[in-house]
Amino acid sequence: MKLIFASQNAHKAREIQGILPKGIDIKTLTELNFLEEIPEEQATIEGNSQFKARFVHERFNANCFADDTGLEITALDGRPGVHSARYAGEQRDANDNMNKVLTELVHSSDRSAQFKTVITLYWEGKEYQFEGIVQGRIAHEKTGNEGFGYDPIFIPEGETRSFAEMNMQEKNGYSHRARAMAKLADFFNKLPNH
Ligand code: IMP
Repeated sequence: MKLIFASQNAHKAREIQGILPKGIDIKTLTELNFLEEIPEEQATIEGNSQFKARFVHERFNANCFADDTGLEITALDGRPGVHSARYAGEQRDANDNMNKVLTELVHSSDRSAQFKTVITLYWEGKEYQFEGIVQGRIAHEKTGNEGFGYDPIFIPEGETRSFAEMNMQEKNGYSHRARAMAKLADFFNKLPNH
């Protein structure tokens, strides 16, 4: 059965396809020749995830899901949160974003933070949300070259290395997105006839 992923990110789609049951066939927006950017202007991660899923559901009238992720830092009252991608400006530059966070935390002893992913699924006319969280702390400087986004400054709980010092498999052992995706996969695995 076809399931549209409200994203143009082929890398994420492969990751998710790998954990879903065989009968579910993920199509990205790129594969459907839909290249418009879906607005991400809601006030929360949950809201953005829901907006993207609803947008695609209305456009294609098909089963679909969307994800949205943010880094929530305690000492910054949960920022960058829903603004994670553009925290330092419209250029969406990961280094600029990390430098802004490190500068804002320079006098802070509380380095605690979490990544949160919310997946919104439209399946057979019903809406579902699945959340994945990883707790950790913000490092004092960037380390590692793997991954993307804020990975070089995020150290998950129980680790001394940043996400950027881990390979993809190790990161997936902790990651917010992998945890939310596991809940999505669990939903499909528990469906009758799958
Ligand atoms: P998105 O909702 O997946 O587009 O993520 C929003 C922003 O959060 C991205 O631009 C990244 O900067 C950041 N982000 C999302 N997932 C990760 C991750 O696994 N590691 C580091 N940064 C991430």
